[in-house]
Amino acid sequence: MRQVENMPATAPAREGEKGITVNIYKHLYEKLKKRRYEIKSYVNNVVEKDLFSTELREKMRPYLRFVSSEGKSVYIKDDKINKVVEIEAAVRERGPELRCLHDETDGCVHVAYCLNCGEVAKALANHSIF
Ligand SMILES: [Zn+2]
Repeated sequence: MRQVENMPATAPAREGEKGITVNIYKHLYEKLKKRRYEIKSYVNNVVEKDLFSTELREKMRPYLRFVSSEGKSVYIKDDKINKVVEIEAAVRERGPELRCLHDETDGCVHVAYCLNCGEVAKALANHSIF
């Protein structure tokens, strides 16, 4: 089995720390097995990376949070302006794009938040946007 490429090494287990059993969906397990990934290392890397990203996002933009998704749009609550803003996904000539309908741009904090939010990526993937 090989270590996961392009992912930071997981912090070693603390002395005396035991692992827990986790159930992985069979189809995902088969994909990992096909890639010859070492499952424990992969799961720990993914969990660590996601937690780091979530904690960083919460510290950097504590006033933003994912609300919901519908069709090709996701909705982000912005406590600074006390509004729910709509971010629309589209595939244009130059490629996939997210556009904030509140700021009318693809370069605001709402779009940046979406680009780093796993919930948004999952919502967009579920609607076959990208
Ligand atoms: Zn915006």
